[in-house]
Amino acid sequence: MSPLPDILSQLNDDMRRDDDWGAVASYIPELAHIDPAQFGIAVTTADGEVFTAGDAETPFSVQSITKVFTLAIALGRSGDQLWRRVGREPSGKAFNSIVQLEQENGRPRNPFINAGAIVTTDEILTGRLPREALAEILQFIRAAAGDENIHINDVVARSEKSHGHRNFALAHFLASCGNLNNTPNKTLGTYFHHCAIEMSARQLAMSGRFLIETTKLPRLIRPPRIRRLNALMLTCGHYDGSGDFAYRVGLPAKSGVGGGILAIVPGVASVAVWSPGLNRYGNSKKGTEAMASLARDMGWSIF
Ligand code: GLU
Repeated sequence: MSPLPDILSQLNDDMRRDDDWGAVASYIPELAHIDPAQFGIAVTTADGEVFTAGDAETPFSVQSITKVFTLAIALGRSGDQLWRRVGREPSGKAFNSIVQLEQENGRPRNPFINAGAIVTTDEILTGRLPREALAEILQFIRAAAGDENIHINDVVARSEKSHGHRNFALAHFLASCGNLNNTPNKTLGTYFHHCAIEMSARQLAMSGRFLIETTKLPRLIRPPRIRRLNALMLTCGHYDGSGDFAYRVGLPAKSGVGGGILAIVPGVASVAVWSPGLNRYGNSKKGTEAMASLARDMGWSIF
């Protein structure tokens, strides 16, 4: 019998023991009023089992976690050509940093920082209308999760768009370097909308199954690409906290400012955790702690 039900239930109790939840992201006004004192976790295994604890059915804004899906779609569309426009190196800088973009002549360091994700969104958008690109992104995520009940929260998207000066600065800089095929407004409108997709921890864990690399589940992308996505998640998935996450948890993972983290245990499981309070890197505080504890208890570190 799996030890996971007991471990997750204990983890849920442990995480609620103190009030040090971290602070929610306030630069997106719609996310600023979310109660930080929430915690949910879900694990889906390669064998098809699903285990949850805490607020695992509460939908939240997955934000940057969608960058994993948009990268998979952009690579499916353009293959290695994409790497002409965006790099594959950790940035060591904040998620929305501008300075490096100037130093590297408008080629973002990786597809998981904002500048890089704006480029992958632009790639998906090229030759399409925003609603077509968004439909493809949603369709991919729904197929991955096996769940048609995953939607975009339009209010969150508009809230970010009306306050997204930093992302507009990044997009205009990319355009000035010739690294944007669409207008900043069109690309960012699409980017903000896919960031505003909502899922519960259960849905997010389900949607991550395509990255497990197993013959037991239906395949959305081929194994070499699965391994490469995992490599980028490990090295770049937590912004300037990526090294710390690898040190503490030892799993490929992607965080979002909504407080979610999707982690992959290669060949074994997809894990989603959500707690909206963030640490100083902008990654879920309790989510990171919970992932570290789970990886330790299950012996899941890849190292
Ligand atoms: N939509 C957010 C932004 O562009 C995503 C950032 C994140 O989740 O880390 O700022």
